[in-house]
Amino acid sequence: AKERLQELVQVPSVTPDGERLYLAANISSIKELDAALSRGADGVGLFRTEFLYMDRSRFPTEDEQFEVYKAAAERLGSATLTIRTLDIGGDKQLDYYDMPEENNPFLGYRAIRFSLDRSDLFKTQLRAILRAAVFGNIRIMYPLIASVDEVRAANALLAEAERELAAEGLPFRGGLPTGAMIEVPAAVMIADLLAKEVAFLSIGTNDLIQFTLAVDRMNDQINHMYEPYHPAVLRMLRIVAESAARSGVPVSVCGEMAGDVRAIPLWVGLGIQMLSMSVQSVLPVKATMLRTNAMACKKVTEELFALGTAAEIKERLERFHAGAA
Ligand code: PEP
Ligand code: MG
Repeated sequence: AKERLQELVQVPSVTPDGERLYLAANISSIKELDAALSRGADGVGLFRTEFLYMDRSRFPTEDEQFEVYKAAAERLGSATLTIRTLDIGGDKQLDYYDMPEENNPFLGYRAIRFSLDRSDLFKTQLRAILRAAVFGNIRIMYPLIASVDEVRAANALLAEAERELAAEGLPFRGGLPTGAMIEVPAAVMIADLLAKEVAFLSIGTNDLIQFTLAVDRMNDQINHMYEPYHPAVLRMLRIVAESAARSGVPVSVCGEMAGDVRAIPLWVGLGIQMLSMSVQSVLPVKATMLRTNAMACKKVTEELFALGTAAEIKERLERFHAGAA
């Protein structure tokens, strides 16, 4: 089966009735990028930049970051490189930076909140990204957005970084597409308003499931309650997809759920444009897409929203994939 999958590397991910869904990779290093390309990923939908900040003794400099982003952009050529700005805090700590003790770190000082508070560090990263954008097709993604104000503040710092680089005479590319990650219920409920501020939305299901169900994704005792197919999660996804469609803004999904072959009918049914997943999921997801009719996906997705439990939803999806439609 592995060799068969390898034959699909060059094949575009299109359903038999002609619906295209781009399959991108989540990567955390340049090494993973090579693996993604050898498995036929359509680009990178989530470049987790935390690795640049972890396992070291100080924050990375602008030049250090520039070199890594540039290398990634060059390797991808015209394919999209979605760079997520620093998503530190929560489960991800830095040895050299004293983060506050928090009772609820996942609800705390993290991601875009950290970046907007430490705008000096944030701007260093943005400047490195702008300079690297000369070498490829880069877009910028902000993690854990919960308000329009945060997007505007981040975009304002991006504009400031552009003005600085211009004043210094350093080469860069401005006007990059920016996107908001949809990871908290607040962002779901204002997806229509966020869509007016950005060029794309990307649903981070890992955090969104945790916050929708109030289930800590790191807590083993309640692991069984962490349920991607909970009807509430599906409704969250539908709100985002419909809001974005009305605004004409494309939506990606970049949490673990994007790599689950069971969910493909749902993504096609909701009109998602891009899935970004772990490198090893790209070919299995593509293989399933190539034999899944978009029309049938739309029909079964409608049915899913009438089902009351995750078990019923999963059972329906399994029956779909078994060929009973
Ligand atoms: C997510 O929350 O779904 C996501 C992609 O981000 P991370 O897993 O890095 O928090
Ligand atoms: Mg997240």
